[in-house]
Amino acid sequence: MSFETFNFTAAINKAITESGYKDPTEIQKKSIPEILLNKHILASAQTGTGKTAAFVLPILELLLQDKNKVRGPRVLIVSPTRELANQITDSVKKYARYTNINTATVVGGMSYKLQNKLLSKPLDILIATPGRLLDLFKQGKIKFKDTKIMVLDEADKMLDMGFVPDIRKIFNATTKQQQMLMFSATLDNSVSKIASEFLTNPLTISIKPDTKGHSNIQQSLYYVDNQLHKQNLLKHFLADTNLNQAIIFTATKRQADKLTDDLYHSDFKTAALHGDMSQGSRTKTINRFKRNEIKVLVATDLASRGIDVKDITHVFNYDMPRFAEDYIHRIGRTGRANKKGLALSFVSPTDREHLRKIERFTGMKIEAKVIPGMEPTKGASEHAEKKKRGGGRWPF
Ligand code: AMP
Repeated sequence: MSFETFNFTAAINKAITESGYKDPTEIQKKSIPEILLNKHILASAQTGTGKTAAFVLPILELLLQDKNKVRGPRVLIVSPTRELANQITDSVKKYARYTNINTATVVGGMSYKLQNKLLSKPLDILIATPGRLLDLFKQGKIKFKDTKIMVLDEADKMLDMGFVPDIRKIFNATTKQQQMLMFSATLDNSVSKIASEFLTNPLTISIKPDTKGHSNIQQSLYYVDNQLHKQNLLKHFLADTNLNQAIIFTATKRQADKLTDDLYHSDFKTAALHGDMSQGSRTKTINRFKRNEIKVLVATDLASRGIDVKDITHVFNYDMPRFAEDYIHRIGRTGRANKKGLALSFVSPTDREHLRKIERFTGMKIEAKVIPGMEPTKGASEHAEKKKRGGGRWPF
């Protein structure tokens, strides 16, 4: 199937060609025709599968076909995080480049003055985070009576972050006649429950977690004894001459700051990215990373979604994620646009349970490796054995 099958307007096709896309991805093949038919969609697709274009492209087409002059927003795209909202905005602008469709983005942390200005004009597409969107609605700055399509992106994350009550209020302020599109990394019971609340007879599209399909990402794990062992391994890998750019994921903001300091003193061009930073400095850091002025970004899971930098060669799980979904999101930061990438996980004794969950979720075992001279004190199997016997702290 090629993009021509969708019969997009020439302006959209031109942007697709310029983006360098040859064929639609799996999620695009399945979603685009259905969205063009105005169906409600519940889709499970990870970031990295081309899911943004899967909804943005048909939305643009539908907007171009609808000639009604209204104040808008005609399309509402709700994202759990500011980073993802900015990411979606970049995609919308890219694909709408040759159209006169206009877009605004409102997220927490942005000045209200600027947002009020953005909202004072007729608007086709509004991209927003839930809290700020609700605030602006309550202030009477936005109305949803013209909204014909509403997208809830990364619905699982919205649930995790406690945004459902806000979404419900926003949804109740719409005509409820709009086409609803919901995307989520997973389709578990809680996601299905909110889907049944907001969507009418949705078509369910499921794209398997693309882990084996992440064939361009080489995943491996290293058992570690302690923090010092992690640091030494990390420095070993950062010295790899094939490393172009890397993201290192830590469990906490403090850990991210601390590791950034350590690496800074080892002459790596490094910066931290986490939720304690102001929106301004977060955006600045991401932009510097995009321009390759920062080689190594040390981030919390906040950054695991919505960062689309093509040349990230290495992702490190310095601390293992607690949720299997986050593992997929994290490693999906590398191997973008069919490039090769490495995902390296440091597994300490307390991470064993997380590792098991990840392997169960992805249906694959991550290969355990060792660096000569940097082996863990005890092997993984011995550790597992010890654990079975009900004892053992690490190091043994
Ligand atoms: P997403 O899953 O939306 O985060 O997209 C992941 C990456 O895939 C982005 O860098 C997109 O530019 C890229 N992409 C989207 N659609 C295609 C396609 N049909 N062919 C190649 N790359 C694509």
